[in-house]
Amino acid sequence: MVRHQLTSRGIHDARVLATMAALPRERFVPTESNEEAYEDHPVRLTDHATVSQPFVQAWMTQALALRGTEKVLEVGTGSGYQTAILAELCGSVYSIELDPELARNARDRLLALGYYNVHVRQGDGCLGWFDEAPFDAILLTGAPEAVPRVLFEQLQPDGRLVAPVGEEGDQRLFVYRREGRQWISKDLGGVRFVPLRRSL
Ligand code: SAH
Repeated sequence: MVRHQLTSRGIHDARVLATMAALPRERFVPTESNEEAYEDHPVRLTDHATVSQPFVQAWMTQALALRGTEKVLEVGTGSGYQTAILAELCGSVYSIELDPELARNARDRLLALGYYNVHVRQGDGCLGWFDEAPFDAILLTGAPEAVPRVLFEQLQPDGRLVAPVGEEGDQRLFVYRREGRQWISKDLGGVRFVPLRRSL
């Protein structure tokens, strides 16, 4: 997976590559999809959730440029696979999942794998996690039509936010960072994500 899907397509962050080489992705996909765990496509979790394609997860993580000590907010825990990648690469992860069952399963799975620097809660991640803000980095793993303003307000001045943005069928991956008083966004390319929802 790392050689054929990640390095060959330009993922060069050695920490991201080493983490994804070591993580047991089969532990995060449904049992009936175990054979597909390392394949070059997303794996379905529920009608409204998928574990993204490995390349896309590596790409988003690389764009966050984590160094090891950051406090990170993730919106859309899903299986917890992306959460585990983040947990390996930063200081602590705060992850919010709208679907109560996914949130519970991901929390149990991450604890069973020994990720004690991860905090998962059920809720609407579009509101952020006020009590734990500010964050050094924020990652959205579902697509809003526009990034909720409150998430920018919960980001450190030198922080980064990575998110797929746009309507279904017309989404692009953006990385945002502040320059002076302005937010600068860089368009990384076209993507396909499940939409972020405001309620179940
Ligand atoms: N990164 C996950 C994939 C998540 S798919 C993984 O590796 O498995 C997107 C997730 O966002 C879904 O689990 C969906 O239930 C969740 N979601 C949708 N809207 C949300 C919201 N407003 N707040 C938090 N989570 C949300």
